[in-house]
Amino acid sequence: MTPEYLHRWIDGTPMDMPLGKAVCVGRNYAEHAREMGSEIPSEPLLFIKPASAFCSLHEAVVLPTGQGQVHHEVEMVVMIGERLRAETDLERIRYAIKAYGIGLDLTLRDVQSVLKEKGQPWERAKAFDGSAPMSGFIDARGVSVRQNLEVSLEINGEQRQHGHTGQMLFPTFDLIARISHVFTLEPGDLIFTGTPAGVGPLHAGDKLTARLGNILQVFSEVR
Ligand code: ZN
Repeated sequence: MTPEYLHRWIDGTPMDMPLGKAVCVGRNYAEHAREMGSEIPSEPLLFIKPASAFCSLHEAVVLPTGQGQVHHEVEMVVMIGERLRAETDLERIRYAIKAYGIGLDLTLRDVQSVLKEKGQPWERAKAFDGSAPMSGFIDARGVSVRQNLEVSLEINGEQRQHGHTGQMLFPTFDLIARISHVFTLEPGDLIFTGTPAGVGPLHAGDKLTARLGNILQVFSEVR
């Protein structure tokens, strides 16, 4: 479960982009914040997954064992193509986006509850090896920025998560602007843009279908 196993392509062509960090946003969809009993944030809640968390959603998703429930959080993933530091120009951000994909922000929910209770950082629950399965990517030039992309996850043929990127509390460009004031974004870095409502536990044998609008559909299974 190391980056070598990652299906790294854009529009089906192997990509030559550095492996960076993933900056993730929590509670970016109001209904998901509500289902977690969390407040609607006034600033994005950010955390980071290292490259050691990356793996391919085109291969089986391997769950950690003995640490309680592992929840699925399906999310649109944005790949950065140019350095962004404290950027405020949303047009510049638009052109700095290289590609779009779909991924799972796997979360050890029981571990996270304990960490939250103790006021401790979330990395043990969110940034472990293999916690960021993701698809190959679609070149941003082929994706209309006005498109309100559907983000959805089916498990065993049943729709569990469903939302639209238009529902994001911090929309893509604004979100990236805010992130770039905290973390310089380098080419190859990824943004996990938050999950719509409907998160829940994964089980071995589950068959997954993750979709990003009509541009990406990935079938996977859980091991
Ligand atoms: Zn998430």
